[in-house]
Amino acid sequence: MSLSKKKNRRILIVDDETDVLEFLKLYLGSLGWEVDAVSSTSDAFQELENTTYFMILTDIAMPDMDGYEFISKIKEKGIPSEMALMTGFGYNPKHTLVKIYKTTRYPCLFKPFNRSKVIETVQRAWDSYHSDLLQSDSDSNN
Ligand SMILES: [Mg+2]
Repeated sequence: MSLSKKKNRRILIVDDETDVLEFLKLYLGSLGWEVDAVSSTSDAFQELENTTYFMILTDIAMPDMDGYEFISKIKEKGIPSEMALMTGFGYNPKHTLVKIYKTTRYPCLFKPFNRSKVIETVQRAWDSYHSDLLQSDSDSNN
């Protein structure tokens, strides 16, 4: 498991819908982010064994484990990635946001995606993950 933070541009995307994975991989890749996309949480845990990601973006409704449970396992393992959820049609955004607020407090992206919201969420996660790393960079430069 990659438990120590290292500066990186890698995002792990977990969704059981392959068209969502393809879109996000292409779109975020075109903006210079390095994207790994997997269709199950078990594949996600395998990726996390070997690779450090500043961000994990996970679907909520998946057959093997839902996004809330997945996030709580990530936290249990002490993986320091920033996290965000995403969800699609058939969910009431207000209900979902209340549930997220009561449980994880991570940002949530709604499908179909608002592209500027995707960019903003990823950039915020990058800033947040790296804030202490960049702080120690500038300390060592002084
Ligand atoms: Mg799903």
